[in-house]
Amino acid sequence: MTDSTASRPGSRPAPPDGARGPVPATVLAPTTPATSALPGSAALPDTGPGGTSGTGTSAGALLHLVRTGRAATRSDLARVTGLSRSAVTSRVHALLDAGLLVEGGGSTSTGGRPPGTLGLDVDAAVVVGIAVGRSRSQLGLFDLAGREIVGDTRDHVVGTAPGVLMPDVAARLAALLAGTTVPVAGIGMSLPGTVDPETRMSLDAPVMGGWDGVALGPYLAEVCPAPLHLANDTAALAHSELFGVVPPADVLVVKASTGLGLGVIADGRLLGAHRGITGELGHTRIDAADGLLCRCGATGCLESLAGGWALVNTMVDEGHDVRHVRDLVQLALDGDTLARQLLRQSGRHLGEVLATAVNLLHPGLVVVGGDMGAAFDLYTAGIRETVYARAAASVVRDLRFAPATHGESAGLVGCAALAIDAALTPAAVDAHLRA
Ligand SMILES: [Zn+2]
Repeated sequence: MTDSTASRPGSRPAPPDGARGPVPATVLAPTTPATSALPGSAALPDTGPGGTSGTGTSAGALLHLVRTGRAATRSDLARVTGLSRSAVTSRVHALLDAGLLVEGGGSTSTGGRPPGTLGLDVDAAVVVGIAVGRSRSQLGLFDLAGREIVGDTRDHVVGTAPGVLMPDVAARLAALLAGTTVPVAGIGMSLPGTVDPETRMSLDAPVMGGWDGVALGPYLAEVCPAPLHLANDTAALAHSELFGVVPPADVLVVKASTGLGLGVIADGRLLGAHRGITGELGHTRIDAADGLLCRCGATGCLESLAGGWALVNTMVDEGHDVRHVRDLVQLALDGDTLARQLLRQSGRHLGEVLATAVNLLHPGLVVVGGDMGAAFDLYTAGIRETVYARAAASVVRDLRFAPATHGESAGLVGCAALAIDAALTPAAVDAHLRA
């Protein structure tokens, strides 16, 4: 292990015992198996009146309306759901009694909410986010609003086996949880490549040698028995864009890092997430890469020209001391001519493939995240060039590009969001209230 850093963003250390008031020990205790929550889909229940989920007007559905900003008062809830005032009142009481909702009184203890307004009690539980990459692992403890309370990021040697890294991750998790007085509602974890959300193992991760087929749950269960939700890293990034908001209808989420991935949000749902897959942007063939060997074993992939690993190889060939695409991005931001040229050119090539996806989906928004997304203006300038040149004019007329909402923390926030959304699905909340 090298380059250890620990951070406490926001200076939100856990308060001493009792400072948050009594919290029922069963609040958000895992009452549903981890596999009941499907990343990306379970987070987006149909909660409207007449919804097909069967929970459209349940207490859990009302909580979902409040935490996604669609309702803030009992009157809002009655209007949005069509429920009677008395029916809303009884459901809200159940949520208040369970410690899941708080009611505003204008005081700091309720977050300064005006009297009569409702909000999720974001301190009712915590969740854990774990983002494991090829050369770095990030851990964080989050409140139910997705705010990081304490975190721990460390670099590791590329190729570190799960039998070495996961015990280290578990030990660091134990350290983060020490002194935590509220329940842990879940653990959200991401890995590069294709994962199996059911068995919670990697299925096909060429950049994570030795990880395929290794069950990850047992490493963490001894330290924290909360449900583990596993997603691939692009899905986690996309999930961070869906968290705590009314789901945007059609969005493409680009993860431009060492590899190139694409999260496709269509009609408010992240496609493929329940199968542990996302768009294989990087392994789409482009003419310009013809004959170039990709790390997936094929030739001609977009990644072999435009992936962070390919850019790093070029920098090294040109005599630069660059080990990771993050180093290259920093050089570009510092004004290095070659690094800037490489990033812009990578954006152009990525835009060639993205133009097809834009034409097919008609998204209103393309989010550009990942390590190369940190140089957003430069990278996106390249993407725009080819997307605007190749996609239909009517499709790109109102197309917007935006950086990841949660910036460089987006992947880890997405992991936390996986766990929070799974714990707070209307069905999970309703089951908890019945328990
Ligand atoms: Zn490939």
